[in-house]
Amino acid sequence: MASSCPIVDIHTHMYPPSYIKLLSSRTTVPYIHQPSESKADPRLIILASDDDPSRPRSSRGRPVDSSYSSFDQKRRFMKAHSIACSVISLANPWLDFLDPASALSTAQQINNDLEQACAESNSAPDSDGQKLYAFGCLPLSAQLSDIISEIHRLKSLRHIKGVIMGTTGLGAGLDDPSLEDVYAALSSTSTIVFLHPHYGLPDGAFGGPEILAKSGHVLPLALGFPLETTIAVTRMYLSSVFDRHPNLQFLLAHSGGTLPFLAGRIESCVAHEREFVVNGGQKHGPQRSIWDVLQTNIYLDAVIYGQPGLNAATEAAGSVDRVMFGTDHPFFPPLRTEKDGQWLSVESNKGAIDRCFSQNEDARRKILGGNAIRVLDLDL
Ligand code: URA
Ligand code: ZN
Repeated sequence: MASSCPIVDIHTHMYPPSYIKLLSSRTTVPYIHQPSESKADPRLIILASDDDPSRPRSSRGRPVDSSYSSFDQKRRFMKAHSIACSVISLANPWLDFLDPASALSTAQQINNDLEQACAESNSAPDSDGQKLYAFGCLPLSAQLSDIISEIHRLKSLRHIKGVIMGTTGLGAGLDDPSLEDVYAALSSTSTIVFLHPHYGLPDGAFGGPEILAKSGHVLPLALGFPLETTIAVTRMYLSSVFDRHPNLQFLLAHSGGTLPFLAGRIESCVAHEREFVVNGGQKHGPQRSIWDVLQTNIYLDAVIYGQPGLNAATEAAGSVDRVMFGTDHPFFPPLRTEKDGQWLSVESNKGAIDRCFSQNEDARRKILGGNAIRVLDLDL
């Protein structure tokens, strides 16, 4: 890729060593299990459906090798795919499970670790011009004042460019009225929120554990994740979060789940909903069109693995200026040896961008990196 078109990966995860240590100290979900055979990779058990008591711990979940915690490996992966800059984020389930007493200090430690690792990596003599930035994490189980103070503190960390969050918020979803002050703090500090799924849908939605066991992670990851994001944002919209906080900025993982495809249907159902009908001149429910919200409050990543999905995402976002390339590394590693260390998951996302915009080089460059540089104010 020509150097005039730097590629920026805004959806790329790590479990920094301090977080691996934390998960390894636990025996309930989420946790890391070290099998007794010394050569076996540790197992990461982060989804409730992974923790099947009928299986030995050494075969539950998925292997978690050093690519999840090694900054060197992140840089090698970037080099193999000509990625100039990565905005790394803690992977799910972030700090959602922490007891309130330890949440703030743990968030501070992880955010400081990320800041330091990015600073050191960017100034290393062998950095090859590669740049690392990060989305920080929030102590969402701590008291409100601690969450808000961490939002403010993160503004002083030069390499932290926003925060990553799951869909449960303080435990009751993102339409929880208790989040009002958090949204106000995010807005007033212009902190972009990278919203990422983790919890999926209840096993019953997929036919229960027996059906799930036959296809591994396919149903929860391919369908549970995107629907979780879709439901979370639709609930925010219906509860007028974006009316009350018109400056909130959310970046949605996996191109917004199914939101680009379903926004029209959501709009139509709202228009026909008696609960929202004009009453004495006062319209209840969301005051703005969902398309307006998509085009002013929402950015989408381009982690959608195909052309039709990417077309829907750029159309729903209203312009190619609001969609950004990502890889979801180190999830979805190649299971067979692939050519030149190339990851299929990366190539299918990049290929979709190339094919969608084969006649529009400007759009291609924006999605691959230009938008991220502008929106996240990255110094490349
Ligand atoms: N991608 C993620 O970010 N998390 C998962 O658990 C699986 C895929
Ligand atoms: Zn991800």
